[in-house]
Amino acid sequence: MAKLELHDIRKTFGEVDVLKGISLTVEDGEFAAFVGPSGCGKSTLLRLICGLDEITSGQMAIDGEIVNDVPASRRGLAMVFQSYALYPHMTVADNMGYALRLAGTPKPEIRQRVENAARILRIDPYLDRKPRQLSGGQRQRVAIGRAIVREPRIFLFDEPLSNLDAALRVDMRIEIARMKERLGTTMVYVTHDQIEAMTLADKIVVMNAGRVEQVGSPLELYNRPANRFVAGFIGSPR
Ligand code: ADP
Ligand code: MG
Repeated sequence: MAKLELHDIRKTFGEVDVLKGISLTVEDGEFAAFVGPSGCGKSTLLRLICGLDEITSGQMAIDGEIVNDVPASRRGLAMVFQSYALYPHMTVADNMGYALRLAGTPKPEIRQRVENAARILRIDPYLDRKPRQLSGGQRQRVAIGRAIVREPRIFLFDEPLSNLDAALRVDMRIEIARMKERLGTTMVYVTHDQIEAMTLADKIVVMNAGRVEQVGSPLELYNRPANRFVAGFIGSPR
């Protein structure tokens, strides 16, 4: 588990200011949902946190350590994307354990971590199957399982459920709530689905055009939106 602190994070692509000074804290063990319209900079921010791209200015700290120059592989984070690719020729267990195998983790430990993650996500009966023998929701659980086995300090999710149909999204919401409860790891969860944010998050960060409009608990945002934008965004489920 780890605390994440962002101080005046800016990101410019060429002439375009995509992030215009993001400052906020995600506490140890907190589930923070980042919401905002398409193009407001959510994925860019996640990529910066993850270390997949460099910040233009500002400071980022994990557990008090400035990580601006720490490479992605040493930040101890794991990201789950909207579109995930599983290796079709590998079993579910091998897919989940692959990163650990590359890192040289001993086989019995890989097996144990894979089994634990599979139990949390309730895919333990499918460990010996191939991805094509799974449903879409089960495959997405494998993708989340790959992140769990790495025992990251922080989980980063980029709209992990947006490719699933409505009924599956509800199931997966329950799965993610279970994961939050069981692991208690800090989670940064990007979504454009207000319901997901309202039901899962301890804290919601509302973004708009590269800035933070408001940070608060779901109830605070619902009851006391800072402005019309937040009111419109939180108050009107799609
Ligand atoms: P969101 O995830 O909130 O939909 P993004 O972070 O993907 O938004 O994008 C924010 C803005 O940054 C968009 O206008 C997008 O076109 C721009 N952008 C993202 N990545 C790049 C890049 N590599 N080069 C130039 N512009 C980019
Ligand atoms: Mg995005």
